[in-house]
Amino acid sequence: VSLRDALLSTGVLVDAGSPGVYGRSAAYEAVVAGLERLIGEPGSRVVRFPPVESRAAFVGSGYLGSFPDLLGSISTFRGDDRDHAALLKTYESGGDWTTGLVPADVVLAPAVCHPLYPTLAGDVEAGTYDVSGWVFRAEPSQDVARMQAFRQHDLVYVGTPDGAEQARAAWLDRATATFAELGIGVERVVANDPFFGRAGRVLSVGQRSDELKYELVCEVSSPDKPTAIGSGNLHRDHFGDAYGIRCGGVTAHSACFGYGLDRITLALLRHHGVDVTAWPSAVRDRLGL
Ligand SMILES: [Zn+2]
Repeated sequence: VSLRDALLSTGVLVDAGSPGVYGRSAAYEAVVAGLERLIGEPGSRVVRFPPVESRAAFVGSGYLGSFPDLLGSISTFRGDDRDHAALLKTYESGGDWTTGLVPADVVLAPAVCHPLYPTLAGDVEAGTYDVSGWVFRAEPSQDVARMQAFRQHDLVYVGTPDGAEQARAAWLDRATATFAELGIGVERVVANDPFFGRAGRVLSVGQRSDELKYELVCEVSSPDKPTAIGSGNLHRDHFGDAYGIRCGGVTAHSACFGYGLDRITLALLRHHGVDVTAWPSAVRDRLGL
């Protein structure tokens, strides 16, 4: 029986009617809350954004060029009574009523650290930020480890090139240790983001050869294909350049470590069983369950 079937049949997850969209049980949410408590870092500036971000700020990130296939753009109804009647008529006749909508000025956040960078335009002191929340990626899948809507918790460094490298290295080590405490052994592998198209293949090769992305992987939904439950990313001056963020008079560099809250929870359910009350007491204690 697959992990997905086991979680759905026991009510740990609830099928919300679209591939990769799930409701979560109280037990599942308690694990996520426990993880959130473990991830925070003293001295970091905590910011929480909603799961949408300004479309105007979003396009500045270059996401449209690299990942157009993953984007979720929000559309809303902006018409009058006549447009409304036409929309309902189209719906009732089985037509495509969404053609009566227009793009809103917000898109769904594709990464939890994304909404942060535009807010840092100007001169900043080197420092660490803590962001957490829901993100969306348009990749419908029956693989429970590939959700369309899921939660990420990121630690983000913005400052100097050396500071970015050091922060990422420290966070990779710290996350590996945290996962070990929770009974999950991970492997650290060089990875690439799923850049789109032919130009994307070139970007993927460059990202791998420069080791800009490391993933911490373990078995979650498939014994053959390990799943990333955390990733450490060097952005170099990508966001500093895109949003005019400066540190010490020059373009800021940044790095982030992303904890995949849903994937870590799924990894725990895979390793310790779908009944959270039966997990090893050391793991339950560490999560405050
Ligand atoms: Zn990030």
